[in-house]
Amino acid sequence: MVGKKRAKRTDLCRFQGFRCFSLRDHEIVVAFDEAITVTTGSRLPPIWNRSCDLAELRQLQGRLAPFLLKLLQAELEHEAKPDLIRRCRDPDIRDTCDYCWTLLFSAGWMCQHCGWEVCNECLCLLPSNSEKPEHQCLSRTGLYHTLPDFVPISRFAPGEVEQLILDIETMLHNIPPSCPFTVTPSIATAMQRADSNREIISIPHNELTNDLFVHLWARDDPYPLVVTPIPGRKLLQYPWTPEFFTNITGKTGCEAQDCETGDIVSTTVGDFYSLFGKEYDNRQVLRLKDYPSSELFQTTRPYSDLHPDLMNATPVSDYIRQDGCLNAASYFPRGAAKSDLGPKMYSALRDRNSIGSTRLHMDVAPAFNVLAYADSQGGANWKIFARKDADLLAAWMRKRYKIKGHPVHQQQIYLTDNNLVDLRKETQIHPYTIDQRQNQIVLIPPGCPHQVSNQVDCIKAAADFLLPDHLEHCLRLTTEFREENLVEGPWMVDVLQVKLTVLHAYVNIREQCMGLERSDLSSAANLEDYSMVIDDAQNPQQVYHSIPSSPGQFSTFQDPDSSTPSDLQDEDTMDKVMALQDTLQSNSSSAKSAYSGGIVIQQTKAEKNRENRERKKANKIMKCVTKSNEPFRCPWCSAMHQCSADILRHINTSHAFKKALSNTQAKSLKRAHQDELVEKLKDLSIP
Ligand SMILES: [Zn+2]
Ligand SMILES: [Zn+2]
Ligand SMILES: [Zn+2]
Ligand SMILES: [Zn+2]
Repeated sequence: MVGKKRAKRTDLCRFQGFRCFSLRDHEIVVAFDEAITVTTGSRLPPIWNRSCDLAELRQLQGRLAPFLLKLLQAELEHEAKPDLIRRCRDPDIRDTCDYCWTLLFSAGWMCQHCGWEVCNECLCLLPSNSEKPEHQCLSRTGLYHTLPDFVPISRFAPGEVEQLILDIETMLHNIPPSCPFTVTPSIATAMQRADSNREIISIPHNELTNDLFVHLWARDDPYPLVVTPIPGRKLLQYPWTPEFFTNITGKTGCEAQDCETGDIVSTTVGDFYSLFGKEYDNRQVLRLKDYPSSELFQTTRPYSDLHPDLMNATPVSDYIRQDGCLNAASYFPRGAAKSDLGPKMYSALRDRNSIGSTRLHMDVAPAFNVLAYADSQGGANWKIFARKDADLLAAWMRKRYKIKGHPVHQQQIYLTDNNLVDLRKETQIHPYTIDQRQNQIVLIPPGCPHQVSNQVDCIKAAADFLLPDHLEHCLRLTTEFREENLVEGPWMVDVLQVKLTVLHAYVNIREQCMGLERSDLSSAANLEDYSMVIDDAQNPQQVYHSIPSSPGQFSTFQDPDSSTPSDLQDEDTMDKVMALQDTLQSNSSSAKSAYSGGIVIQQTKAEKNRENRERKKANKIMKCVTKSNEPFRCPWCSAMHQCSADILRHINTSHAFKKALSNTQAKSLKRAHQDELVEKLKDLSIP
């Protein structure tokens, strides 16, 4: 499977999940993703550090809206293209372009034969005819992809984009005005010094307020910051020491990397940390590689205890905590496709000969970095360039170093003091310098090139977040990273998925605002979400879906008085179901949202009863149309469906088959049994 990162279920078919059906309001509606997401139970709504009041939510919405509006307007244009196919989002899959690995927000282009999908930008790179063979079609041996193979894809339900645009346009007129913010004279002086002489702004932990932070960061050229601990107060409660990590996971195998050569050494956590504090000649400058992973931090003790410890140490926690209510990334529903924003730990030995503990690079997301442990009295030396100097720096590096691709994004260079002198002489630019001490926090805005050299053996911990005012710039960086992927093949994964993150945030906040306006209980927002988590767990299969979740397994609702499925195929009922489904598909007003935000609507008792009745009805209908336990297989891809109606629908939508069939042909196919159907289908060629 190219480019799709699925965590839990194995991918059956590239075309799977285009449509699934759910019973609501006494009729079958196109449910898109909901059926799958609810039953896998991975779509838990987010929980925040505190609940916001209506004015705060409205303001946050207003900061996200202009960015989202532009995205949606582009989607609307895409949707107007002929032969559009709508497919659903799966919260367990990051839908990425199979060519450049950039996340697909919604719009894409898919090969109608093999399901290979590319983004709008990459479509232009495909040849218009087969004279320049480049990418082989996965399901047609010997044939190469050309432009005519591709049909436009949208992941929104019909009418959904228009609705969102309308909503944003109305909302933008109703944003409460924000209070003007004035800085203290000392901050004003610090800002001047930063501008004129690249002196880093340093602020005590308890003095960095939300407003001050936004003032310093929501600008074209945001200031990198150092946050100093409050004297006498412990920043981290756990001992983040080499001994501690040796004690808790010393025997765990891991990899260390030589910072100079890039060589990978197999070791254990204990053996690696035993090097701390032991200097000798020619000691390799090693760093622990990807250990512990952010997944360990989220899920496995004792690292999952360190996670809240780290979060409690964040300054401006509303913005920086992973569950911070003003952190735009906190609105992404918890699931396998959630952005990987850390936390991460960086353990490395003292740098030697200016090799660099971390080479010059820039990150797509803003980051928080705390020096949790430093051997003896030293620290970590940071060089951070202002964002507005980034282009000039890259141009200078391009001339000086022979690097294929973007000189900063390729992460191959550490600028020594001598290099920095040359740089300043030739371009007048120079970086902020920070000597980060234990318990000091460095805040790095996105788009600021930076590098680190440990002066002693260090353990750092870091996490990413998303400021609502940095969206445009984060997107610009994503685009630059995409170009890097085209240089040497995919290696940078679009972890931030800024577009989708903003969509989730906007829709979730909109729901919260509506809830607050309705109930006028401004503190209840988070509690409701908790109650829904419990509800979901008790009632995991809320929605019916017609796509089997694993081969041969046909999921129906658990029906206490269900009997064994009938082998009888009732063609009339099946035809009725198909006809009904067809009508509903073309009726955009009945379409359920394709968007899978963390919104769960509270069900009333009456609604639940009705759903139970519908569920029984659905099971009965499906028993009639299910012919046998042997599923129908698509002759062109690995899709499987339990009834012929579904497999025909699959073929119609996925392989653009419909137009090739006469009415009589279609009817006879609908009534065919498995072997017969496949034989008949094989005789017909795809248009
Ligand atoms: Zn692409
Ligand atoms: Zn193909
Ligand atoms: Zn970085
Ligand atoms: Zn197929």
